[in-house]
Amino acid sequence: MYPDYCGGVEMSEIRLDSVKKVYDDDIVAVDAFDLVIDDGEFITVVGPSGSGKSTILRMIAGLEDVTSGTISIGDQRVNDVPPQDRDIAMVFQNYALYPHMSVEQNMSYGLKLNSDLPDEEIEMRVREAAEMMGIEDQLRKKPSELSGGQQQRAATGRAIVRDPSAFLMDEPLSNLDAKLRVHMRTELQRIQEDLNTTTVYVTHDQEEAMTMSDRVVILDGGKLQQVGTPKEVFSEPANKFVAEFIGSPSMNFFDVRLENSILVGSDVTYTLSAAYAERIETRSTSNEFTLGIRPEHMAFADENDFNEIGAVLEVREPVGDDNYLYLRRGDTEFKMRVLGQIDHAEGDEIRVTFDEADAHLFDRATGQNLLLQPKSADTVPSDTTTQEA
Ligand code: ADP
Repeated sequence: MYPDYCGGVEMSEIRLDSVKKVYDDDIVAVDAFDLVIDDGEFITVVGPSGSGKSTILRMIAGLEDVTSGTISIGDQRVNDVPPQDRDIAMVFQNYALYPHMSVEQNMSYGLKLNSDLPDEEIEMRVREAAEMMGIEDQLRKKPSELSGGQQQRAATGRAIVRDPSAFLMDEPLSNLDAKLRVHMRTELQRIQEDLNTTTVYVTHDQEEAMTMSDRVVILDGGKLQQVGTPKEVFSEPANKFVAEFIGSPSMNFFDVRLENSILVGSDVTYTLSAAYAERIETRSTSNEFTLGIRPEHMAFADENDFNEIGAVLEVREPVGDDNYLYLRRGDTEFKMRVLGQIDHAEGDEIRVTFDEADAHLFDRATGQNLLLQPKSADTVPSDTTTQEA
């Protein structure tokens, strides 16, 4: 029914170019936002409350005007296209099911209203979507007779019957209890893979973003911080904000300076290899850094480790097979995540270390990840653009 291609451009690629949204003349909710969402891609937009996630989704849906910039779906600029003509289906946190209608009526209502599909076709679509969502036995019930999970399935089923070119989902699982939420994540992922429909999914939950999507978009203060696969944003965070936001428990940070290949902070010293130190020196003009180490990259030091941090184990928290250890050295608190049994008790003095390869280093003033910055020597002078740097 919906052609895959239109003028050589895939129908459901969604493109945002320099998109800006200002509310009430002075609230900049989204700024300078560029993103291309590929056809069939599952992309998650994640960030703290107020970072502009819903505004982006609502602009793609056409529920909010764009202040400046362009939004395109396929090869069509849609800035002025009303929501009902954008061929997009939304799933919200509160399900927005009509209480007086049965599940079947809720699922078929949009198509009956906005399409000229014959009744048999609509019935067939509703049946298929209900089977896909595992609610085929609930079709005659009213929403109030369903559990939260079943209501969520009905709302998703209603989006599926429309066979849209994209799904836009705004925190669709946040009203469900923790166990059901984890289960529904897997279900939504499976359905998205089966249908291969472009999906933009908004959440404040980094774990949800990291487990569900092909790529993660991280926002702060209306600005794009990084877009990448879950692995990329975890292993190569563009800046300190991303490093701290992604991963649980969050990354440890230590303020340090570099002195003769040694990172020196008030509670930590760490001797770098000459190669690592040189990489930092060629990428930064400042000597004020933040060292970042993930709790899972901290390890107990043995007698061969000369780069060690002595610390007191203040709190030991078993979480499933893991132990989260809360440590203190001087004024600095940090966390360590250890798999399996440990011999240490709260109050013990322990020694920990980490691999240089797992260390992240951020410019303290800008927050940029220095190891991802091009070396100044990599920059090609503007008058010799054909030369190799
Ligand atoms: P998020 O979804 O990440 O929580 P929003 O997109 O809802 O963030 O909001 C981004 C910013 O825009 C916030 O500062 C919020 O207060 C503001 N905002 C959102 N909607 C409106 C509105 N209708 N009128 C005025 N300000 C708004």
